[in-house]
Amino acid sequence: MDFDLTDEQKMLKEMAYKFALNEFKPVSQECDEQEKYTPEIRKKAGENGLTGSWIPEEYGGAGVGFFGNCLITEEFSKIDMGIGLNIIASSFGCESILQYGSEEQKKTYLPQVCSGEKVSAGAYTEPNAGTDVAGYKTRAVKDGGDYVINGNKMFITNGSVCDFMVAQCITNPEEKKHNSFSLIIVPADARGISRNKIKGKMGIRSSDTAEIAFEEVRVSQSNLVGREGRGFMELMHFFDTTRIMVAAQGLGLSEACLEASIRYVKERTVFGAPLGTFQLTQKKLTEMAIMIEALRGLVYRAAWLADVGRPDYHLSAMAKFFSGQTAVLCANYAVELHGGYGYIEEYPVQKWYRDAKILEIYEGTKEAEIMTIGRKLQA
Ligand SMILES: Cc1cc2nc3c(=O)[nH]c(=O)nc-3n(C[C@H](O)[C@H](O)[C@H](O)COP(=O)(O)OP(=O)(O)OC[C@H]3O[C@@H](n4cnc5c(N)ncnc54)[C@H](O)[C@@H]3O)c2cc1C
Repeated sequence: MDFDLTDEQKMLKEMAYKFALNEFKPVSQECDEQEKYTPEIRKKAGENGLTGSWIPEEYGGAGVGFFGNCLITEEFSKIDMGIGLNIIASSFGCESILQYGSEEQKKTYLPQVCSGEKVSAGAYTEPNAGTDVAGYKTRAVKDGGDYVINGNKMFITNGSVCDFMVAQCITNPEEKKHNSFSLIIVPADARGISRNKIKGKMGIRSSDTAEIAFEEVRVSQSNLVGREGRGFMELMHFFDTTRIMVAAQGLGLSEACLEASIRYVKERTVFGAPLGTFQLTQKKLTEMAIMIEALRGLVYRAAWLADVGRPDYHLSAMAKFFSGQTAVLCANYAVELHGGYGYIEEYPVQKWYRDAKILEIYEGTKEAEIMTIGRKLQA
């Protein structure tokens, strides 16, 4: 057993961090304030092999696997989780194309996202059903060689900027709920699609989130990903790897909180001594450090398992759950340790505090992760 990163992985981590420092940091505050999406940074990331990096080289990716993708995500999230998400999620949904798609679909869609030219999205959540995946209502009805899609999707990352999306639709309503869904690739410029950017998010404000409506949208039946009626199961396997990516976001953000806090408590003097010399301060830093180390273990192991062909749905859920807990706690402590300065925009900790909360909501709420893990423990 070897817990060390390889030289290649260390280089990838350093490269991703430098990229984020040079490209994200100068615009981070402005993008947060103005909810600004940055396509030029995403394109540059593509030129540097940082978009769709987990996709195998034969389909245009960097072939660094889910582990490499985690390292990139972790480093990006140390600087700006929202801008990082624009890049990391620019291949969102393509996990299912790689796993279940036809060779033609892989050759058509994957290289485009790897180069940073095109953006994909995973369109699952609906206005009336998020956690209850089996409650989605969007319908795709066969007509000639096409599917005709009607329905609404909600809170879709990259929804207003994507070029295509992988959407969960009911194709077999006569079947039991879980066997009635299919994943279908839908070009974002298809007739009948309207997209509305959602503004006013609490955190990750530089990321794009949209509502999408399908009205009599016609796509070829050749856009079906995998098998008809298997969409629910395919979506569950999508979470095997995407939850690890989200967990890596929390790892990076938590590390940034700890580093900033250590810096601050060494500089800040209270009662005639550095803040860091007080035991209550040390308790907070220690708790943060322990949780970060434990989280790293979960994230890296879950990613490694996915890369060796043994993705573990439950371990991914654990990593994602613990990531939310860790990031929310670390961001909270970071704000507290900065006192009043933690509450104003001069220091980034207030932004990390707002950003952290999404890690307990998207890609399965913390309650959804608990249900997943709890069921497995009693299986
Ligand atoms: C910024 C952002 C980006 C997102 N990106 C995407 C994306 O790219 N693609 C996509 O498809 N979706 C995306 N989502 C949607 C996200 O995954 C959902 O919001 C999330 O799954 C929760 O669904 P919901 O909002 O419908 O809440 P609900 O499912 O209505 O849940 C509300 C509350 O009830 C709890 N709850 C639900 N069921 C139970 C139960 N059985 N027992 C106890 N508690 C329960 C939940 O945990 C939650 O606390 C995004 C959301 C946001 C905010």
